[in-house]
Amino acid sequence: MHFDATREAGLARLAEFLPRAGRAYANNRNHDDGVERTNVSQLSPWLHAGLLSEAEVVDAVLAQHSPGAAEKFIAEVFWRVYFKGYLEQRPAIWDDYCEGRDAALSALKGNTGLTTAYTKAVEGRTGIEAFDHWARELVETGYLHNHARMWFASIWIFTLKLDWQLGADFFLRHLIDGDAASNTLSWRWVGGLHTKGKTYLARPDNIARYTANHPDGPFAADGLSDDALHLEEGHEYSRQQLDLPGAPPSSMFDKPYALLLHDEAASHVPLDLPSPPTLVIGAARPEARSSGEIGADARVFANGAVQSGMEEAAAAFGCPARPWPAETKLADIIAHDGIERIAVPYLPTGWTRDALMPELAPMSDAGRTVFLLDDLNRATWPHARAGFFGVKKKIDGVLSELGIAGTRDEAQSALPLG
Ligand SMILES: Cc1cc2nc3c(=O)[nH]c(=O)nc-3n(C[C@H](O)[C@H](O)[C@H](O)COP(=O)(O)OP(=O)(O)OC[C@H]3O[C@@H](n4cnc5c(N)ncnc54)[C@H](O)[C@@H]3O)c2cc1C
Repeated sequence: MHFDATREAGLARLAEFLPRAGRAYANNRNHDDGVERTNVSQLSPWLHAGLLSEAEVVDAVLAQHSPGAAEKFIAEVFWRVYFKGYLEQRPAIWDDYCEGRDAALSALKGNTGLTTAYTKAVEGRTGIEAFDHWARELVETGYLHNHARMWFASIWIFTLKLDWQLGADFFLRHLIDGDAASNTLSWRWVGGLHTKGKTYLARPDNIARYTANHPDGPFAADGLSDDALHLEEGHEYSRQQLDLPGAPPSSMFDKPYALLLHDEAASHVPLDLPSPPTLVIGAARPEARSSGEIGADARVFANGAVQSGMEEAAAAFGCPARPWPAETKLADIIAHDGIERIAVPYLPTGWTRDALMPELAPMSDAGRTVFLLDDLNRATWPHARAGFFGVKKKIDGVLSELGIAGTRDEAQSALPLG
């Protein structure tokens, strides 16, 4: 599977996957069938980059499948939204992860035994066939199946007994869809830090069963730990009140403004702007994912998404586009166009926010920014207070409140509901 960093490629992947997003997805999604997979969508890189929105993906799925048949796929998309909303209410989890990761990376330097164990793990030389395969697949392709991510994280933590933050960092540096919320909270979930005390234990029979159709499978996983004692941290993360931007009045866009596209919002299309910007700015910051080296696939996709999004927006609005490299001051980029404001698609907790906010904050303080958050995330995040169930039970309500019921086109409505 090649991930092309354009909205067009994301839409093509969505159209191709749609017929399988109903009951076929619910029945087959847990199998890791190798890189030519058809049982999962592999839409996560485009969703993470904001080249596709969750709302349009769900709408397209409901156009081809009944709500019952599409329930599982839609729930998975809402796991993504849930994790975002959860981290937004506990941003200290991200800050502590970054600090812990940097400490763990430094600790490697002074400890030969640890460095050897870590290097064997990330180079796929542990002797655990399944794990070694996924370590190499991640580095070579920038993607892993969800079940492989769960098994990998579990073996990393409970069998290899490596620091979970080093594992989360390895994922974030290489996953094309690397996402501060989904990645950090999933690693915490496997280790028993998210749902306190509840861990995920990888078992050889489960791995063999769900890799049976893999061209190199079924994978052996000998010597796995058969217990998963949950990780501990000395404190609870208390929930902070969400302060989300409402839908801005169209008057905010009357004066000349610049649109900022970034790693998590690389396309203008889902933003539905009331009037065209005077300038499009593109800021890609994949290098801010980690203090370690970023994998080529993740870097190329993030840079390519912002570049293609900038070009498309400039063509659609008939305005210039300018990249905002990390070493350049934002003020210099907007100095000459009479720009009053910058429209900034919401920067959720994570590295893009960390990298861009220091420069945006003074503009925000001066009332010169307008933050844009889509309706689906705005409506869902307040329910991401504790476990996923709190969001799950609200999915139908959110979709009906937003009128997301499946927009059928002529060709699609001829198909039977899957
Ligand atoms: C340890 C670990 C780390 C992970 N790191 C990331 C990450 O950095 N970025 C990321 O996007 N996802 C992450 N996930 C979640 C999940 O594995 C991927 O979203 C999914 O595998 C993407 O493949 P897909 O698009 O084919 O998913 P599909 O099965 O086709 O699902 C459709 C969409 O729903 C969302 N989704 C599906 N499953 C999950 C899930 N369990 N949690 C959150 N969202 C989900 C994704 O946006 C996905 O594109 C992680 C999971 C684990 C266990």
